[in-house]
Amino acid sequence: MSRYSNGKLPASELVQVGTPTQVTTRATAQRWGNFVEDARRTYGWVPRITPGENAYRDYDTQVRTKAWACNQGNCGLAAAPGFSSHGGEFEGRDAMAFDVAHWQEVGWAKFKTLAERNGFTVGWFSSEPWHIIDFAPFTMPAGGGNAINTGMPAAPTRKGQQMDLLLLLITPNSGGLRRYLIDPRKEAHREISSLKYNIYNNAGFLGVAGVQPEAYLDQFPNTF
Ligand SMILES: [Zn+2]
Repeated sequence: MSRYSNGKLPASELVQVGTPTQVTTRATAQRWGNFVEDARRTYGWVPRITPGENAYRDYDTQVRTKAWACNQGNCGLAAAPGFSSHGGEFEGRDAMAFDVAHWQEVGWAKFKTLAERNGFTVGWFSSEPWHIIDFAPFTMPAGGGNAINTGMPAAPTRKGQQMDLLLLLITPNSGGLRRYLIDPRKEAHREISSLKYNIYNNAGFLGVAGVQPEAYLDQFPNTF
């Protein structure tokens, strides 16, 4: 039995979670925040909800979304109005969904791991890997909003080998994140693209965990 009927949540239950048209419940927003922070810390990847009405959809939005999908020639992309898992209720259960179209940037295995350990169900519709569902949208996640408390294991370290290796480092800047390759022996850094970062990361290069202050970069002032 769901708390509300599909697409009929009162505004008092909803908070903004992305752009102004992207809203969800407080508990789901908390889970989403944990997911984003976990992804940033663990993989240097920042998930975002697909631009557009891809969080909670009230009934009228579901009508529009269905019309849009059919107009694209793929009615199956959107549920019949009143039956979407974006509507706060799905098959009799409370449910809040998000679409995360750029999940390929991090790959399926990592996306699935990140989503599941932060309370989201993935793969509900096999044709929509980007669609994640929170089936407890009115229950605050354990540990609240502090992603440090998600219980994820610390990144492995291999002390003693690191001076022979290049390291990956991520620092913030006003436009987002900057990614670097560090050569500890030369005390040198080189900025790299996010794509190259992902290639090196997937190849198993050691990385400095999380997003670190720019002062870290100052310790490697040379370039190479
Ligand atoms: Zn969806």
